[in-house]
Amino acid sequence: MSTVQEARAKLGEHFGVGGSGKPDRWEALWADGSFIPWDRGLPNPALEDLLKDRQDLIGIPKEASDTAGKRKKAFVPGCGKGYDVLLLSSFGYDAVGLEVSETALKRCLEERDKHGDKYAVRDASLGAGKSNFVAGDFFSNEWTGSAGAEQFDLIYDYTFLCALPPSMRHQWALRMSHLLAPDGHLICLEFPLSKNPNLGGPPFGLQSKVYVQHLAQPGLDIPYNAEGYIPEGVTYPDNPAALKRAAHWQPARTHEIGKDQDWISVWHR
Ligand code: SAH
Repeated sequence: MSTVQEARAKLGEHFGVGGSGKPDRWEALWADGSFIPWDRGLPNPALEDLLKDRQDLIGIPKEASDTAGKRKKAFVPGCGKGYDVLLLSSFGYDAVGLEVSETALKRCLEERDKHGDKYAVRDASLGAGKSNFVAGDFFSNEWTGSAGAEQFDLIYDYTFLCALPPSMRHQWALRMSHLLAPDGHLICLEFPLSKNPNLGGPPFGLQSKVYVQHLAQPGLDIPYNAEGYIPEGVTYPDNPAALKRAAHWQPARTHEIGKDQDWISVWHR
C-alpha cells in the first residue's frame, strides 16, 4: 500500500460510514494533532495562479478608484490551517476561513502570527485584505444569521466537498448557492478525481459531473448508482437557482497529490 492509500484507510477507519459529516470527529483529529494527512503546509499553487492570471474571470478584489477601500469578501469553508485564506488576503480580499474545529482555528492564528511573512502583499497599490477565522458548521446559520444574510464575492472549495459524505452533497450545493453573492464566483478545485467512489472516504472520490449536477440543482437529492456515480442520461428541469459553470480547466500547478488530475471549475449565477 502506498502512503496515500494507508492514510486514506486510516481516515476511513477513524470516521466510519457517514462520520465525516460529524464535526466532533474532525475536532478529535485536530486535537490529537498527530494525524492530519490532508495538510500540505502551504496554499495551493492552483489558487495562486488563478488569482494572478484569471482576473478576466473573477474580477479584482478592489477597484483602485474605490478610496473608501471596500474590498470583495472571500470565503474558505473547512479551511484547515488557513493557508488559502491568508493567500486570498495577500491578494487583497477580505478573507474569512470557517472551521468546525476549534483546534484548527488555533492553528490558523498560529500560521498567521508565525509565518505571516510567507503571505506578502501581492500588489502594493491594492494592499492586503483582512483575514478572519470563524468557528462554525458550514451548514448552520449560527455563524451567518439567517440563510442568505451573509454572502461572499468569492468562495473557494478545496478538499471540503470531498470531506463530506456523498449524502450531504445536495445540502453543500444549496448552502453554496445561499452563500454566494449575486455577482460572486465559486471556485472549486476538483479533487480527488481519480479515486473510485466505491472506496469511501474522506476524501470521497469525485467527478466533474458531480459538481455540474449538484450546482445545477441546489438542494435536490440527486440519486447515485450502486457504484457511487451519478447515472448517465438523467436530466432535470431548468432551475432558477442553478449555478452555471463559467470556466473549467486543468491547472498547470496544484498540490503534488492532485498533479495531472485536479481540475478547476468556476461558477456564477
Ligand atoms: N481545506 C483544508 C482542510 C481540508 S480537511 C486543507 O486543504 O488543508 C476538511 C476540513 O473541513 C477539516 O479541517 C474539518 O475540520 C473541516 N470541516 C469538516 N466539516 C465541516 C463543517 N461542517 N463545517 C466547517 N468545517 C468543516
